Amino acid sequence: MIIVTKPGIQEAELDHIRERVESLGLRTHVSRGEQRTIVGCIGDEERLQELPLLSMAGVEQVLPVLKPYKLAAREFSAGPTLVRVGGAEIGGSELAVIAGPCSVEGREMLRETAFAVQDAGARLLRGGAFKPRTSPYSFRGLGEQALELLAEVRRESGLPVVTEVMDTRQVDIVAQYADMLQIGARNMQNFALLSEVGRLHRPVLLKRGMSATVLDLLLAAEYIMAQGNMNVVLCERGIRTFETATRNTFDLAAIPVLKRETHLPVIADPSHAGGRRELVAPLAYAAVAAGADGLMVEVHPNPEQALSDGDQSLSLAEFESMMRVVGELAGVVGRRLPATAAVAA
Ligand code: PEP
Ligand code: MN
Repeated sequence: MIIVTKPGIQEAELDHIRERVESLGLRTHVSRGEQRTIVGCIGDEERLQELPLLSMAGVEQVLPVLKPYKLAAREFSAGPTLVRVGGAEIGGSELAVIAGPCSVEGREMLRETAFAVQDAGARLLRGGAFKPRTSPYSFRGLGEQALELLAEVRRESGLPVVTEVMDTRQVDIVAQYADMLQIGARNMQNFALLSEVGRLHRPVLLKRGMSATVLDLLLAAEYIMAQGNMNVVLCERGIRTFETATRNTFDLAAIPVLKRETHLPVIADPSHAGGRRELVAPLAYAAVAAGADGLMVEVHPNPEQALSDGDQSLSLAEFESMMRVVGELAGVVGRRLPATAAVAA
């Protein structure tokens, strides 16, 4: 249930509404927009029948949320959610580009990539420390050593870092270093892991599962939010279909559908969607045109030598030229890249 309050509601009136709702055993969540404040009620809605909500001072409207997800539902928030990660923001008018290698392979490659992507307009650095690999014999990441390198390069560049956490047992160690925790496609329905990252208030990048529907993705976000962590960013990264010409099938329509359904920011990962370097830029352009709040792109100083996902990794120069076009397209759809970027010069 959502309680829409009157413009200019007093704090005491708001507190009173919350107290009455909470006295019935429900939880409340307040969302303050420019015009309105909304009180979301979570719990057994039947019990709210006992309360004459409309007669309370400051209440304008009471609406049921008919969707299976509540906290993630667009109606639940007075406006789009802005997720702050270090100095970066995801979900605002500036496109948030997360770039970096698939896996952290060493200090030099990470530093070189970080400074290059930063100059090209990226606001966050990615890099896998614990890698989910289809084969157990593939390179599975440098683990804690990679986390230390990410923290070191963050200190030098100022870029906040995003890295994947694969297991509930890794959450504490990854959270010691990362500014944003990534839940990968293979773990999108690992409900124990979702709840665990929900208990921390660290921002979460939640990637769509390979065979997950949009509804599954929103309900996975709900798991995190139900633990009190509202800082969730959704990522379309392609789904598995009968098509084999691309690594996955990029579900472009999911971007505007998600933007319609939820207040959470939505970004796209054209690298894992396409699986090949020449597909990354066109898919990135399409995502920006479709309304994505940002991109996640794999970049490597020497893709031919990459220990994971070399085929889909852009070189530093390729990333830079892609970002020039992203900057132009951003302008067409009313967005922009950070002003400090070399592309803006
Ligand atoms: C990744 O971003 O490195 C990754 C493994 O992606 P996904 O979980 O989308 O396959
Ligand atoms: Mn990868």
